[in-house]
Amino acid sequence: MKGVVIIQLTKRQEEIITIVKNQEPITGELIAESLQVTRAALRSDLVVLTMLGILDAKPKVGYCYIGQSQALKAANPFQETRVSDVMGVPLTVHQDISVYDVIVHIFMEDAGCAFIVDEQDYLCGVVSRKDLLKASIGSNDLTKVPVGMIMTRMPNIATVETGASLFTAAERLVTRQVDSLPVVQQDKSQAGKFKVVGKLSKTILSKLFLEIRE
Ligand code: ADP
Repeated sequence: MKGVVIIQLTKRQEEIITIVKNQEPITGELIAESLQVTRAALRSDLVVLTMLGILDAKPKVGYCYIGQSQALKAANPFQETRVSDVMGVPLTVHQDISVYDVIVHIFMEDAGCAFIVDEQDYLCGVVSRKDLLKASIGSNDLTKVPVGMIMTRMPNIATVETGASLFTAAERLVTRQVDSLPVVQQDKSQAGKFKVVGKLSKTILSKLFLEIRE
């Protein structure tokens, strides 16, 4: 998986960048002279800056400036990660199955919610665990209540497309105050009809952050 690198340059490294920007191409010796330090004292900073792609070290010529934004972009491939790269397997069930059966599926598949589909397998709703708890308060026979009766339904479902960025997904999860988004592909021949191809949850995003740190 691609990772995030947060780069905090030191004051010395920033100074080196400014010198190279203004005087490129410039040798390591001349940079050291400008900063009044030894060449050896600069070695590790120059290695870091060339490894990050901020400076280019040309043999016998000296250091040239490549560009910070370019380097930061390359070092932050997280920005290029798409929802389809990290999405999980969704739990989808038909709208006519009972609330009781959905509860069983949620336990068996260790899911946080279920996405509900219609007869043609198009997304038509979502049920969360709290929705199921709510339905079980009272004297309803849950084996007789179709999940379609208690679900949050289209068009009020927050979805995300496979090609969306993780920032779009995170923003949608937060603003809509939900735990999970169905990842969808729109049917080209039927506007407003979506097939569920994955799920993007707060749990998936949190695990991703941990993996990136490691
Ligand atoms: P919980 O209800 O267990 O806290 P959520 O915060 O995910 O879980 O759900 C809150 C409410 O929002 C529920 O009524 C649920 O049906 C609905 N919901 C869940 N996911 C979505 C979604 N992607 N789009 C719209 N509504 C959703």
